[in-house]
Amino acid sequence: LVGPVSYFTTAVNSYKSIEYALLDVQKILDLQELPEEKESKELSGYDISYKDVTFSYEEAQAPVVKDFSLEIPEESFVALVGPSGGGKSTLSRLLLRFWDVNQGCICIGGKDIRSLPLGQLSGLISYVSQDNFLFNMSLFENIRVGNPAATKEEVFQAAHMAQCEEFISRLEQGWDTPAGEAGDKLSGGEKQRIAIARAILKDAPIVVLDEATAFTDPENELQLQKSINELTRGKTLLVIAHRLSTIKNADKIVVLQEGTKVAEGTQNELLKACSLYRSMWEAHVGAKAWATSNQEKGADK
Ligand code: ADP
Ligand code: MG
Repeated sequence: LVGPVSYFTTAVNSYKSIEYALLDVQKILDLQELPEEKESKELSGYDISYKDVTFSYEEAQAPVVKDFSLEIPEESFVALVGPSGGGKSTLSRLLLRFWDVNQGCICIGGKDIRSLPLGQLSGLISYVSQDNFLFNMSLFENIRVGNPAATKEEVFQAAHMAQCEEFISRLEQGWDTPAGEAGDKLSGGEKQRIAIARAILKDAPIVVLDEATAFTDPENELQLQKSINELTRGKTLLVIAHRLSTIKNADKIVVLQEGTKVAEGTQNELLKACSLYRSMWEAHVGAKAWATSNQEKGADK
């Protein structure tokens, strides 16, 4: 429920988003009512393969993902970029089976994800989105959600790797701080690091980051990047990012527009071959220069 519920809690600025989020929650509740009869499947690895995937949220709606294919080899780093509304988040939610494809299929390790028990599927994937959702429990327990069987030491270790120790120790009640209280006292970047600690503790072989570093303040950026590096080492990695600097070293960057893949390649290949990517990169570099000059102006005051 973390994905859709967090989507709900942070999407209150748009009625349409609330409607979507409620549909997502309903969908998960529907899924959870299914008895889990299936046996865990033996996988050939942790590669991901989207094959001719077409999907629309409602029957009457035009597809938001059209005939989309993508191979993500095990332990590779693949990034999805493109204009807002292009279907990037939809593709990540399809991998988690918040929704199912209308046509085509998605496989992990050679098995259609619809043939896997939900428990097995969710154990394969750590999902961190821009909505860093804290459960109504202590910060310690909020990290342990990633692996309820973890020892105290393992929780501390994950928090250490995610650069959480310093800000948690600053809080009067430290690890015992209830999420509600912490919510007021922690920055967006600090809450993101809690979510990353949780994912590090989970230690799933596949990591999906959906704009997980959005809204990060510049002073937290380096810390956050460090913790993400810890999380993603040795994993199959799918990253959705609007800040292109964070994905420029990806093994493969996929440009998505209006539900269709328009190009695929490394940063250098796309800068040469894809005018959409080139204009996004130029806008990104321009925005960065603008932010830097604004910071300098701020420092003058
Ligand atoms: P991106 O992440 O690239 O910005 P999304 O995957 O969020 O794009 O959205 C793709 C399209 O699907 C958009 O037109 C969006 O309005 C629509 N959409 C997203 N979520 C839902 C939903 N739960 N129900 C109906 N339409 C949705
Ligand atoms: Mg999105």
